[in-house]
Amino acid sequence: MKDNPLRNVPSVNDILDAPSVQALAAWHAHDTILTAIRAELEELRKRLSCGETRDGQSDPLAIAARVAARLEHQGQAKLRTVINATGIILHTNLGRSPLAEEAAKAAYEAGRGYLNLELDLDSGKRSSRQLAIREWVCQLTGAESATAVNNNAAATVIVLRTVAKGKEVVISRGQLIEIGGSFRIPDIMSVSGAILREIGTTNITRLSDYERAIGPNTGALLQVHSSNYRISGFTRSVPLAELTALGKKYGLPVIDDIGSGALVDFARFGFRGEPMARASIAAGADLVLFSGDKLLGGPQAGIIAGRKEWIQKIEKDPLMRAFRLDKMTLAALEATLRLYLHEERALREVPVLRLLSMPLEELHQRAERLAEQLRSLAGLASVTTVEDVAYVGGGSLPDQSMKSWVVEIEANSFSDAELARRLRLGNPAVMARLRGGKLVLDVRTIFAHQEELLIEAMRNALGPKD
Ligand SMILES: *Cc1c(COP(=O)(O)O)cnc(C)c1O
Repeated sequence: MKDNPLRNVPSVNDILDAPSVQALAAWHAHDTILTAIRAELEELRKRLSCGETRDGQSDPLAIAARVAARLEHQGQAKLRTVINATGIILHTNLGRSPLAEEAAKAAYEAGRGYLNLELDLDSGKRSSRQLAIREWVCQLTGAESATAVNNNAAATVIVLRTVAKGKEVVISRGQLIEIGGSFRIPDIMSVSGAILREIGTTNITRLSDYERAIGPNTGALLQVHSSNYRISGFTRSVPLAELTALGKKYGLPVIDDIGSGALVDFARFGFRGEPMARASIAAGADLVLFSGDKLLGGPQAGIIAGRKEWIQKIEKDPLMRAFRLDKMTLAALEATLRLYLHEERALREVPVLRLLSMPLEELHQRAERLAEQLRSLAGLASVTTVEDVAYVGGGSLPDQSMKSWVVEIEANSFSDAELARRLRLGNPAVMARLRGGKLVLDVRTIFAHQEELLIEAMRNALGPKD
């Protein structure tokens, strides 16, 4: 042991005394810093005993710098901003719908202070938080009353429990949907305590199928929009107005889960077959359910609109307490709904609607501009623009695409997958698509104010990395 390489490894206290580590105390708990120092020293000892030369590695200042870097990496927020270059407007993994500026501000204000969440300011008495959205939903859908819960899955559970616990709910086999993994109509039905009564076949269900299934233990008729798939070819389903007439004849409520919650007619964007909440109420549905963060473009929520007596019963269910919206979401939802009171304003200010209505020519120009800036970066082998198609996503309108413009790029010295990985790990992170060995950036979902950040993120990604 004439030259033990471990002999000169500094002590924990030596590192703690380094000014750069002292400065960390403002941001990190003492124990966290100690743990990081010990981990760093442990690694150093391992490296040295494997025969690595000391080479200044044991210098307390160098170790202190590595401790700071380790803590910064460890302490990074798990949730980070992502530039969405996928072209998919409602990307469930990226938080579905971005909020309108007004809605984000409302959530911010609600979060940082007090508000009349359950207080009637006129009388000074206690009130219901649902009043924040009830009147607006009624105006926008023509419903008698409305309430809101955490998401459409929760809305379905609480509605089925209230209306049909222990009773049969009649639904067409063609509508036994699964949405994103754990939302399956048969499972939701059993959680709610209602009994699934499936009728018809996958492609054909007739009014007579519903009528034959109705018996003394029937609780409701349920229609579910096949949001994320289409049955085409030889098909037949029952129009909602016929179903509600049947419901009336037998005194049974009709529940319509329309999924996306369109409050404007999506035909204006060239999309077919997306049900509107207002049309569903007009066709006589007793309860209409939809998400807040799909085509509506608001925060995650499940909105229930319909008959007053049912809404009152739903709000008395003990599950309401478990499912209710928090103040920030409620504030964002109210602000989003208020934008829809003036349709032109909603089209201008609700991001989902704005992204959908962006003219192709504008997308083309933005793609060209982005390509030009990218070409000025070192490290890219090719940058080209091309017209492409994108999808709405989020389990909406699966069979219909929209035209868009993309920039396709190839790096000089690494693969498309490596470039994608580097972009994902950047700050802000960038999510793009890969196709035919190239990275594809769709400009539709890149906000104009993010273009500079994107160039910067690309510059960082192309630079040297370990
Ligand atoms: C998306 C969807 C749901 C689930 O809504 P969440 O808000 O995601 O819980 C339920 N039903 C239909 C028809 C849907 O499209």
